[in-house]
Order: sequence, then structure tokens, then C-alpha cells
Amino acid sequence: MKLSGVGASEGVAVGPAFVPRTDRPEPQRTGIVEDEVGAELERFGDAVRVVAARISETAEGLRGSGNEDEAGIFDFHAEMAEDPELASAVEERVRNLESPEAAVLAAGEEYAVEFEAMEDEYLSARADDVRDVARQISAELMGRADSGFEALQEPSIVLAKSLAPSDTARIPKGLALAFVTAEGSRTSHVSIMARSMGIPAVVGVGDALSGALDAETVAVDGTEGSAITDPDPETVARYGELSQALAEERAALDRYRHAEARTADGRRIEVAANLGSASEAGGALEWGAEGVGLFRTEFLFMERDDLPTEDEQYDAYSTVARVFGGKPVIIRTLDVGGDKSLPGVDQIHEDNPFLGWRGIRMSLDTPDLFKPQLRALLRAAAHGNVKVMFPMVVEAGELRKANEMLAEARRELEEEGTGVGEIESGVMIETPAAAVCAAELAAEAAFFSIGTNDLVQYTLAADRGNERLRKLQGADHPAVLALIRQTCSAAQEANIPVGVCGEAAGDPQLIPILLDLGVTELSMAAPSIPKAKKVVSEWKRT
Ligand code: PEP
Ligand code: MG
Repeated sequence: MKLSGVGASEGVAVGPAFVPRTDRPEPQRTGIVEDEVGAELERFGDAVRVVAARISETAEGLRGSGNEDEAGIFDFHAEMAEDPELASAVEERVRNLESPEAAVLAAGEEYAVEFEAMEDEYLSARADDVRDVARQISAELMGRADSGFEALQEPSIVLAKSLAPSDTARIPKGLALAFVTAEGSRTSHVSIMARSMGIPAVVGVGDALSGALDAETVAVDGTEGSAITDPDPETVARYGELSQALAEERAALDRYRHAEARTADGRRIEVAANLGSASEAGGALEWGAEGVGLFRTEFLFMERDDLPTEDEQYDAYSTVARVFGGKPVIIRTLDVGGDKSLPGVDQIHEDNPFLGWRGIRMSLDTPDLFKPQLRALLRAAAHGNVKVMFPMVVEAGELRKANEMLAEARRELEEEGTGVGEIESGVMIETPAAAVCAAELAAEAAFFSIGTNDLVQYTLAADRGNERLRKLQGADHPAVLALIRQTCSAAQEANIPVGVCGEAAGDPQLIPILLDLGVTELSMAAPSIPKAKKVVSEWKRT
């Protein structure tokens, strides 16, 4: 069976299918008879042991590959699986003739609700972990061992309806060979993650995915945007050839990797990388990044179940700054809301989260969250060329307030005698309002960075993750180009640099257009850098 969607991250891969079962399993039996109580309790005990052992194994694997924070999450899951309170609640239900698979779901839900009601944000955020563990035990009792990403044990092709950033962040390194999702577009976060992980992805295959969930093996072509389930040997061989051709194409681009990007008529264009975590910094340099044009700090907050402390943030930011030496590293302050939720922050349900409380709006309203981040950035600036950038700005007043808080954080640190570095502050141009008010924003900003992913969705009123709106997701729409032109003119007038850090920056078709409009920096998923440098080097103003 062939699935067609959007080629969201290039490359090909063939491997076993993995379907994360994050849905709540329906118990096959809800009741038992008196005679079965003893045996069912024994079965429950065995299932708990199997699940706890499997989770601990995942934790150890993560610890072994240096992912201490993620390992901690799984340690908690293993403890929860063996929790005596959960066990006695299940036992009571089984003695009242409920099946253990139904009992553990019900007892887990009661337990989760108790957690949810707790004042302590950390503990209340544990509710979903409890549900997750109860679901795994129930699935084990029903002979369906695979559930969630904990069950991902060998390098596989991940098939899912959608993948949230928190899902992709939890996949241990090297275990995802490719993604195939029913939902999503080129600029949704699963696509962005796939590109920075350097693995192929096909998104937006729609309902056809449900017919593919039983496949054993899947072949994915992220360049064409297709996937074939249970491919025949000829197809597997063809994918091998495709993979070889891609490797050759990449080898041919090798000479551009570490070259300084300059257009054919001598204009210097900085080609930088977008990062989702500090651990990607070394790899990005190898791809030839001349700096970091966008460090999305939200992943630092989402890979875990509590908020990172100022010191933990400082560690991450200063690591990137050090790895990049004196090269510029633009770090964006927290941009959650929309499709990125944040454990520990009270994000009420919003009917239109992309038009809601996100980015700079949330940061300015929650100084307890914003201040530690600004302090960590100022401290990290002592170790390299760090710049801070604010997302989702729609007016100069927001930028002024953010800059005031930055100055306040600096004063505090200086009074405490803590070392801080110089830091430029800039703004993302990702709303039509920001583009239209670019001249005013330029007075408060040391640089602009155009976020085409959001700029397109807000200009064209087209959800960036909705696969039915594919035709309305291109940055080459005249309205979007007019806003980019306006932004570049304002930047030129104010004599400040203007970059693009949305997905358009890494698109070989769009790079010449962006250069024509006056963009001075391009920032993209690191594997796209060599090709982008080639396109830049061949471009000249006509
Ligand atoms: C953008 O909107 O273009 C951007 C780079 O930010 P994000 O994709 O993280 O929303
Ligand atoms: Mg954005």
C-alpha cells in the first residue's frame, strides 16, 4: 500500500513499523468470577513486574546515552508502576470481581485525579504519567505489550496520527528512522524536528494512515513525500539505490559545507543553523553552520515534567555559546502556546491557541518564568556571542517591556556580583503586525529575524499544521513577500541585519527570492546548510 503526503524532511529509510499506542485501551473483559480472583491477582502482579522492568530498561538505556533528564521521567514511571497504593486499589477492585485490566485503568484514573488536584505544580503535572503507567499495565494484561514510546526498542519507522513536540523529544536518539503522520505540514513541529534530527518524514497522509497501522515494514521517501507498507524486495532495493544517490548528492555538496557563504556578486550572507537543543550544536557546526540563527528554547522546557532552573538554562545556553566560539548564537525566549504546551504552566483551554496566550505575551505576563530565562541568557553571554530574540511580537511596546526586563535582570545580576556578558536583543518578525510596524520595531531592536512559518499562517489565515491547506502554506505568496520586503526595507533604513529563520530559509527555491528582497542571514535545519550555501554562492542581483 502506498501513502502520499508532504515530503517534510528529505531522505529515504526502510525499517520495522512502530505505532505508539497512546490511546486508552478498552478492556476486553470488565468482570471476572469469584474463582478467578487469586489467579487474576497473580496475573496483575506479573504484569506490574514486566512493565516496571521494561520501563527501567528504557531509563538505563537513556542514562547510558547521557540523557539524564529523560531517564528521570522513566524512573518515576517505573516507581509508579510498582506503587503499593495503586496495587492495593486494584486488589480491592479485583476482589470485587472487576477484571484487573479494567481495575488498573479505573484505579489509575482515580489516582491521577488525586495528583491533578495537588497544589504543587510538579506533582499535579504527574497525573498524565500515572495514566500512562496504568495504561501500560492494562495493555500488558491484555497481551498488547506495545504502548507509548517506552516500547520503542529498535530503530523503527514511527507511524502516528500526529506527533507533538513532547513526543518527538522523548524518543531516544537513533531509534526513529523516519516519521509518517496523518496530520501536519512542512512547517508543523514534527517536520521541523525531523529535519533537525536528519531523518526522513512524510506528513499529512490523512486517513490512509489507518490502513497502514498493521504493516510490519515501511519504506519512506521523505523527498517525494510517500511511504510504502510491507515493500517487496525490488522496492527495498530501489530505496537502497535512492539512499546511495542521496549520499552521493550530499558528498558533492561537501565542498560548500565549511565555505564562507558569499553571493556570486560578493555579498556576505551568513548561513546559520536552527537548534532545538544544546546537544545539536556540535552536529550543526559539522554541517557548516556559521552561527545559530534560532535556538528554540521551548524544547528545553518540554523534554521534562518540571521547569528547568535558571542554572540548568544557563548550562544549556552557555554550552551552545562555547561550542560556537565567537560566532553569533541567537537564543529565542520561550515560545509556547499554540501546539506547544508546557508542563507546570497553567495554560487554560483556548479555542484558537495560535491566536492566544503564547510567546512574548505569556513571558511578559509570567515574570517568574521569564526572569530566570533572561538571567540565564545574560550569564551565558559571558561565554560567547549570545543574542536574545523575542517571539510573537505585534507592537513596539512589547519589545520595550521585554528589553526593560532584560535591563532589570542585568542590574540584579550585577548587584549580586554575578558575571554577565554583552547581549544584543532582536525581534522575530512573524506576525503581519510586526512586519507592518517594522520601522517602529527597528528603533528597539538590534536585528530582525523573519519567522516565515508563522508569518505565512497569520498572513494567509491558514493553519500551518492543516494538511488540507497545503496550497496556502508557501512563503512565496505575494502578500507574504510584500511583508518581507517591507521588513527588509525597514532593517536597511535602520542599518540592522535581517535574517530568516522560518523553514523558507532552507528552501533552495525560495533562497534566491529572499536574497533579492534584501535578507542578510539565513537560518535552517543544519543538514540543509551545504545546499543553501551552494545556492547563495550561485546567486547574483540581476
Ligand atoms: C517561525 O514561525 O517561522 C519560526 C521560526 O518559529 P516557530 O517555527 O518555532 O514557530
Ligand atoms: Mg514562530
